[in-house]
Amino acid sequence: MDELIKMFKDANEQIKRLIEYYNAEFINGKMNNDKLILKTKSCGKAGCKFCPHGPYWYRAAFNKKTRKFMFQYIGSKLSKNKLKWYENENWDRIKFYDNESKRIREQKTKISSAIKVNKALRRSHANT
Ligand SMILES: [Zn+2]
Repeated sequence: MDELIKMFKDANEQIKRLIEYYNAEFINGKMNNDKLILKTKSCGKAGCKFCPHGPYWYRAAFNKKTRKFMFQYIGSKLSKNKLKWYENENWDRIKFYDNESKRIREQKTKISSAIKVNKALRRSHANT
């Protein structure tokens, strides 16, 4: 079980690093309208042990009232037709981040279900 928790934390670390790399390559401190953003999401359920979820793709939109950027959800998987024309030249790099996101998300899903199975087994043992 501890091993699974460690793997889960490690996957979260990988996600953090992936987003850092993406930001260094594509955001570089310059957030603006329509920027393609890779970020995680908190589900808002109290006590969720699997947060944060993702990473998923978003588009930044500046809200004039709040003077803050809002993030519009695009999806977990990108395709060329979801890109702006000027982003197409970066498709290979963006695709790299898309694939890595998918790989880590799937890894996390596997670890999460192993953790759940483990817990269920422990409970059934405790009841006997
Ligand atoms: Zn959650």
